[in-house]
Amino acid sequence: MSTLFAASIGLRCIYQRIYQRSKPASLVRSLATMTSEEKQIRYDLCVAHAAFHHFKMDELVWNHVSARYPKDSWLITPGLKHWDEISPSCIIPSSANVTADIIHSSVYSARPDVNAVVHLHTRNAVAVGCLKEGYEGLTQDGSYFHDSVAYHEWEGVSDDPGEGVRIGENIRKVPGCNILVMPNHGFCSLGRSVKEAWIQAFYFEKACETQMVAFAAGEEAPAGVGGRASEMPAKCLRD
Ligand SMILES: [Zn+2]
Repeated sequence: MSTLFAASIGLRCIYQRIYQRSKPASLVRSLATMTSEEKQIRYDLCVAHAAFHHFKMDELVWNHVSARYPKDSWLITPGLKHWDEISPSCIIPSSANVTADIIHSSVYSARPDVNAVVHLHTRNAVAVGCLKEGYEGLTQDGSYFHDSVAYHEWEGVSDDPGEGVRIGENIRKVPGCNILVMPNHGFCSLGRSVKEAWIQAFYFEKACETQMVAFAAGEEAPAGVGGRASEMPAKCLRD
């Protein structure tokens, strides 16, 4: 059983538990006119937000999670709501938040294979983004991101449409990347689905936590899995 598959099962259990707890009956009516595809995407986004909240990876009402729908647009975090209060019906179409729009639209434009984007400011990923070395990939779980991390240097609050072009260029420099580190800011997880983007974000933050702990132990250059086993776990995790 691959780690990703096992993680999917664990995530599904969390999804079900959180959804059962927060399922509001009134939403059934408001979602009645939507296609089954849109309802599923809204459901996935709603539970992704709640699951990030469950693991304390959210940041009050900030940060955002989106999914491509329909083809040339996307659905995204509403803002001004705590992530455990977000319901399927309050997920919004693009264009409500300039910063979110610039970041997410640049990813979708640069990568037609990406259908979901998670953007977080979790502590360990931000800390790794502040290091000169950037992400090191010291662990088996961290190998999922072997040769798959792109970087986009901080330009201040992302409210300049020109930054979207530069984000896209940086993403394309690492073909097939699944993480975009935004130094001094946060990171994005790029997934083929909401669940994949969620799992990558979870493991990236975990791998960054390990990196920070290993560096804090005082070793100048902790031994990573690079050159030993990095490519094998990466393949097995992605399949
Ligand atoms: Zn941000």
